Amino acid sequence: MNSLYIKYFFKISRSSFLFIPALVAMCLNVNFMAKAQSLKIFPIANEGVLINVGKNKVVIDGIFKSTYPQFESTPEVFLNQMKNNGKLFKGIDVLLASHIHSDHFTSLEVSSVLEHLPKVYFYANQQIMDKLIEERENAKDLSKQTIVFEHGKPLSKTFDKIKINTFPIAHAGAEKTEWIQNTGHLIEIEGYKVLHVGDPYFGKEELLKANLTTQEIDVAILPYWFLNSEEGRAVVDSTINAKRYIANHIPIKLKEEIANLFKGNFKVSVLGQKGLLVRKER
Ligand SMILES: [Zn+2]
Repeated sequence: MNSLYIKYFFKISRSSFLFIPALVAMCLNVNFMAKAQSLKIFPIANEGVLINVGKNKVVIDGIFKSTYPQFESTPEVFLNQMKNNGKLFKGIDVLLASHIHSDHFTSLEVSSVLEHLPKVYFYANQQIMDKLIEERENAKDLSKQTIVFEHGKPLSKTFDKIKINTFPIAHAGAEKTEWIQNTGHLIEIEGYKVLHVGDPYFGKEELLKANLTTQEIDVAILPYWFLNSEEGRAVVDSTINAKRYIANHIPIKLKEEIANLFKGNFKVSVLGQKGLLVRKER
């Protein structure tokens, strides 16, 4: 009996020895899976933001001169910082744009930034890229920096540690704006997931098709009309279900009103100057 016990004990302790490295490996793995760095989202203008995790930086809808007076344009100071690879915008990896409207993207401003930053990629749908090529003042070759994708289907592309998933989502305004290629982006960086939808009027079907509710999205950046109406919130809950939301695309005149509406709401923010910080998980 005794010897059996010893044998049994010995067997367990021997296998524990083998188990310890496995346990350590598991812990390391868990650590590795947890988000090692914080996610920062800085407002640029209108729907434009800088998304930053560690050294990874993506700018979406952040480079434009709006011809719509009700919406902001990219501040000159930010454009200069981008072109000079300085301050907040030092080390941008990828530029993205949702669609061709001038309150999200303008060719001259985007190409000027690209010309200054030869290592930065611009990843965008065909319509945006056609406009970029068509409207450029000079003919400096940007073909090494511009990567076009087909608009009609969901796609993924990885730039080092940044994975960009795109899907089509109809622009607000029904038939009048049917021709516009509006792209939804799900941006994955170091374990974080950030959604940006451009300009849809809800686009419930396309959002459902994109299978977002199971993705555990950290932050969804949405036009404010998704978040200040019952209809919008119902769509958000049933098709996105993110941990947090940023309300944007706010006309200059309504900014204070909308910001007040979400004051103290942990789940929904209007980006102030400091932006949004999502802390790493421990
Ligand atoms: Zn638009």
